[in-house]
Amino acid sequence: MVTREDGLSENVVASVERNALLNALRHDGKAEVGAVMSKVIGEYPELRASAKEVARAVEERVKEVNAMTVENLRALLRERYPEADVAPREREEGRVGLPPLPNVKGALAFRLPPEPSGFMHIGHGMAFMINSVYAEKYDGKLWLRFEDTNPRKVETRYYESFREGSRWLGIKWDYEKSVSSDLEILYEYGQTLLSEGNAYACGCDEAKVKKLRFSGTACEHREQSFEKNLEIWNGMISKKYGEGEYVIRLRGDMTSLDYSLRDPNIFRVIEHPHPLTGSRYSVWPTYDFEVVVEDELCKITHVLRSSEFHLALQELMRGFLSFRPVTVLQFSRFNFKGTPVSKRLLRPLVEKKLVSGWDDPRMPTVEGVKRRGILPESIKQFTLQVGYTKTEHEYDWSLLFAVNRKLLDPLSKRLMFVPDPIALHVKDAPSKRARIPYHPEKDLGSRTIQTSGFFFVPKRDALAAKAGTVLRLIELYNVQVLGKKTNLITAQFHSEEVIHDTPKIQWVTDLKTKLKVLEPGPLYNEDGSVNRKSLVTTKGLVEESFSDLKMGQIIQFMRYGFCRVDARDTCVLAHR
Ligand SMILES: [Zn+2]
Repeated sequence: MVTREDGLSENVVASVERNALLNALRHDGKAEVGAVMSKVIGEYPELRASAKEVARAVEERVKEVNAMTVENLRALLRERYPEADVAPREREEGRVGLPPLPNVKGALAFRLPPEPSGFMHIGHGMAFMINSVYAEKYDGKLWLRFEDTNPRKVETRYYESFREGSRWLGIKWDYEKSVSSDLEILYEYGQTLLSEGNAYACGCDEAKVKKLRFSGTACEHREQSFEKNLEIWNGMISKKYGEGEYVIRLRGDMTSLDYSLRDPNIFRVIEHPHPLTGSRYSVWPTYDFEVVVEDELCKITHVLRSSEFHLALQELMRGFLSFRPVTVLQFSRFNFKGTPVSKRLLRPLVEKKLVSGWDDPRMPTVEGVKRRGILPESIKQFTLQVGYTKTEHEYDWSLLFAVNRKLLDPLSKRLMFVPDPIALHVKDAPSKRARIPYHPEKDLGSRTIQTSGFFFVPKRDALAAKAGTVLRLIELYNVQVLGKKTNLITAQFHSEEVIHDTPKIQWVTDLKTKLKVLEPGPLYNEDGSVNRKSLVTTKGLVEESFSDLKMGQIIQFMRYGFCRVDARDTCVLAHR
């Protein structure tokens, strides 16, 4: 054993480091000497004799570890001690993989801010989950706030999609509102900006505004009198002015390098009925403006959202209106390989009928993911595992599937599905009433299958077995292959006992049902083109007890994969 000058072996030194990292990760990045010490002594009881040396090593390491950021701690742990899976232990202790929040004094409030202009997707779900977990962790309030101030984009059905999807994920919100119900309050704040000279009414056409914004030049309306601004503003609200005639612009900085500060629009006329307020209002605030006001009204303390928003602009408006500061933590969008969440890329697939709809199991919508057999708890655990990052990152579905598989395994009945079947005739087969449990370890019940000598087995496996090979029909007995024809395999009954290393195959009797399994794949290829083979249909036979399953139930087809019952004759493959 290698030893250092303090007499501790490399193994002990590694134990000290590993336990210091683990302890720090469980306590907001601060490890505690005593706790680490007792873990190390627990692993190496013989060290009691040299407790002093161990204590010194622990103190040294804890000091170093406590100076590191949580992200670095996690990275170091993964790199050096990948076997020390920190996530399950954190979960046991009711802790999560998300770092502690700054500025957590007083009552905290968070928000889920969907724009009801499309169906909820897994990216929303993961972002919502982060807010929800923090709200729970810090005993804060959670708002579900519909950012519905563009009547041209919002639709009634989308509001419900977000409510339903959030409920499915187990997210509990304390308050709910639609920003469209606050228009008159938003008008008051707009008027405050106008009356204090921080905004003005501009009648330039769009092309001119664009040009001037690009060159950093102010238009003539910027210096217009307060009376004139107010007159136009009132004309907009009373519908004297139509769409495109005037907009209200914030007086920002026309020469700022941040273009979002070059006098952005904060109100515009949109002549389109709104699903909630009808045609009552036609002056609508822009997103950046309403969000600043709404965060103040909802007393939001922490904003955790994807980084595609104009922070400096929102900060400027907050200053103009003397609003409380808000702690903003941004993360990059949650993207999955081959499955974009952007409506721009998904809508054409729906319109061209390349998918069956927004709830197609290939779609990243919450409905699609649910139909595929992903558990809400898997999305939660996956979110906590990956935490959040500011760097653009495409997640691989296999990571989510791994979490899902772990959760599904003890819960799912195991049935036999035979893809692409071929008949099997077993000579001298004993007639058996086989009682087969649905799960090898968990008590999920059992079914009884009466067998004769006639079966269906997967063609690929059967044809691969040479004459003379002994195969085990799962949970039944062993047979020895005699011969093969195009549509029939003949075999001889061999023995009952499990023989080590015998290939196992699943089977069904002639009491079977036809079943098709849909296997979803990525919607887009790596080169960005549409994947025309994103759905593979496998036809086969399933054992009779399949008809006892409930719609939506998730089961495991042995030697095939986890599937969700989608219709009486159809399953969707979640993953292998
Ligand atoms: Zn102008």
